[in-house]
Formats: sequence, structure tokens, C-alpha cells
Amino acid sequence: MESLLVKNGTVIFNGVSANADVLIENGTISRIGCCLKGNGIKELHADGLYVLPGLIDEHVHLREPGLTHKEDFNSGTSAAAAGGLTAVLDMPNTLPPLDSVERLIEKKEIARGKSHVDYGLYGLISDTSKVTEITRMVKSGCIGFKAYMGPTTGNIPAPSHRMLYTTLKVLSELDAPLVVHAEDDELVKFFTGKSNNSIAHLNSRPYVCETFSVGELVSLSEYTGARVHVAHISSGKTVKVMEWARANGIRLSGEVTPHHMFLDSKIYSRAGNFAKINPPIRGYEDGVALLIAAKNGIMSTVASDHSPHTVEEKLGDPSPSGFPGLETELPLMLDAINVGKLSLADVARLMSENVARLFGIYPRYGSLFPNSRGNLTIVSLNLRTKVNAEKFYSKAKYSPFDGMELAGRVMYTVVSGDIVYDGEVHDDIKGNFIARE
Ligand SMILES: [Zn+2]
Repeated sequence: MESLLVKNGTVIFNGVSANADVLIENGTISRIGCCLKGNGIKELHADGLYVLPGLIDEHVHLREPGLTHKEDFNSGTSAAAAGGLTAVLDMPNTLPPLDSVERLIEKKEIARGKSHVDYGLYGLISDTSKVTEITRMVKSGCIGFKAYMGPTTGNIPAPSHRMLYTTLKVLSELDAPLVVHAEDDELVKFFTGKSNNSIAHLNSRPYVCETFSVGELVSLSEYTGARVHVAHISSGKTVKVMEWARANGIRLSGEVTPHHMFLDSKIYSRAGNFAKINPPIRGYEDGVALLIAAKNGIMSTVASDHSPHTVEEKLGDPSPSGFPGLETELPLMLDAINVGKLSLADVARLMSENVARLFGIYPRYGSLFPNSRGNLTIVSLNLRTKVNAEKFYSKAKYSPFDGMELAGRVMYTVVSGDIVYDGEVHDDIKGNFIARE
């Protein structure tokens, strides 16, 4: 926890941009204004740079405990800091999965002292979840819950309709969100062929697996009043369903990833299984529909779905789904800003404010109001980034974006007033556990 004066940047907040100084005292924002004096505290000169409320990645798999050959809290949160993320929310499909208060406490212990950005932890909803345990987990600070409607890393059994209904009823009373990987288990299994390659993977998960699953969630969210957030929406058809749901006041929201917005299925001929992920990357029109939906508010958040595996695993048979995303996510968004597809205000809304609101941590996070956490993401739109996966802080040193030249660069990542990234990661800086209020 430091004091820091960020001078002369262009501050992006609440949809407005203004030239201003930001003063962080003892880890929290104390003032924003012109010509602030720091009385000898550390200064960071942000002339020509943009200062955003600290970005939060709501969807990462840091793989600890149990799968640390793929990633761990140290490497994963270093990747986050290098990617301009000041906080991450970590998914529960580890070994063992995080499905009880005891395991929440264990994971908190693991992350403490190894995490270089702030971190929140999800609990898992599976077919054997217990209502009493869900309530205890919310009271112990679980940031939210995750359910997998289809096959995923860790072979988690999808919740039955009865279990999903029961869970949503409890979560609506606790006002905690359920994040759902929406691809129908039975349909995916039906469409899955024998081949392991990435094109076969695309064919094994047609968009109907997603729209079918989201349709169920529309019904259950409407009936229970629970907040349901659909992870990594991949199809333009699903955007249509979301439009209808939101227009009818249903508490359903959507997350979109940079790879679903900015890549299309042509990537498979170039990157093969290194671009294999769930749900798969679809047609060009799907990416355009997702980008428009992120811009116009039908999608409310952007996240990386950072899902690392080793190179050997990715080259194996079967090749697992997922690739790292923390170090390419923000440069890709900045590049989209530079060609006029998005604005910095969109990025602040999609990757900070809306995330904090969804998980009930606004305005502690996702804002620059006095007393908010002193987390900032500082970027350049002029400097460029060449994606070089070999240099990733993540253990997974490959990317479907490898070699791309992107317009825009992450300059500084500030966590509680400490500069954790300024071109290199300072791993002596430690992040804090984010509990729901
Ligand atoms: Zn995921």
C-alpha cells in the first residue's frame, strides 16, 4: 500500500475524459484534479497517456491448486499485471475444485503472498452442490459462482435442471451472480466426432449448443429473478437471444472475449489446436455481431478466459481446449480503439465498471471516486505492441495472436498505489483478496 501521484494523464471515468492528476494515498484514491501536490510522495508522469480505473478480468483460470504445471498464482498474476489487469477473478475448476468454504480458505491461503494483483475466487456449482454450502461460501467472501452446462477441464458434472433451479433460487435471495458456461452437455456429446483437430472441434459445438443452453437460462432467470451472466458468448445467434432477454427485463447479462470478437474460424488453418477453445471461434459475422453487442451494451463485460495448458498438452491427442489471454487482451482492445471500433470509455465500462457492478464490489472497484481502491491501468494509444508469446509471463508460451502487431501498449499497472508493472513485472508487490461486501 503506497501513496502515488499520477500527473498529467488523460483520465477516463464515467464516460468522460479529462486531463487531470490522480492522487492515491495509503492505497486508496484520495483526489482527482488539476495541479495536485504530492508533498514528496512518488510521482508518475503520464503525459500523453490514458489513465483508466483499474481493469478487472472476471474470467481467468490460474490452475492452482492441482494443475500448476499449466499455471499458478505467481505466473498467472504476473501475466495479468503485464496485461494491464489490476485484479482477476479466478475460476473454480481446479483440482480439487473450489466447492466448499474449506477449499475457499485453502485457495485464499495459496493466493496470499503469491498474487501480484487483487484476486477474487469463484465457487463451483455442480450436480452435487449443497444449498447450505452455497450460502456459507457467499458469507465467506466467494465473489460469485460458476456452472458448466457442458464438458470442461476437470470433468465437472453439469448441474441438472433441478439443481440449476434450486441454485438460482438461493443465489437470487443472496443476490450473488451465477456465471455460466452455456454449451449444452447432451448436444455437445451428440455432435462430437472422433477427430481431435480444431475444425472437428468447431463442428462438434455448433451454435445451437449455446443458444439452446442460453434459452434454458433465460427461462430460469426469469422465473427465479436470479442474476445470470453468460460467459464467453460466441455466436451472433446468441446475441439475438440476449437482446430479447434484456429488452424483456430479464436479469441476464453477457461476457465476450477478444478472441471471439477479433478472430474467425480461419485462424484454425494457421494456429491449429493452439486456437482450440470452448466455445469455438466461429464465423467473421459472429465476431462483428459480438463487437457491436459489446459497444451497444447488449454484452456487458469483456474477459480473457485465460485458460492455459502446456505446449506438450496442446500438441497431444486429445488436445485440451483453452489458451492464455491475459497478456493479449488489453493490447487487442487498444488496437480496436485505434481503428475506431471501440473507445477508451467502452473499455473502462466493459473491463472495469460493469465487472465491479456485476460482482457487487462497485464503487470499491471499477471507479475512481475518493475511497475507491488505488488501482489504475495506464496505456498509450501511440506506442505499438508486437505479440511475442515466448516472452509471456504465463507458463503457456503460445497464442493464436502470436506475431501480431497491435496499435497500443500497456504502460503501467498500479495496484493499491504500487506500480506492479512498468515494462516489467515487480513481483515483490502483492495483491489483496476481494470479498463481496
Ligand atoms: Zn473459462
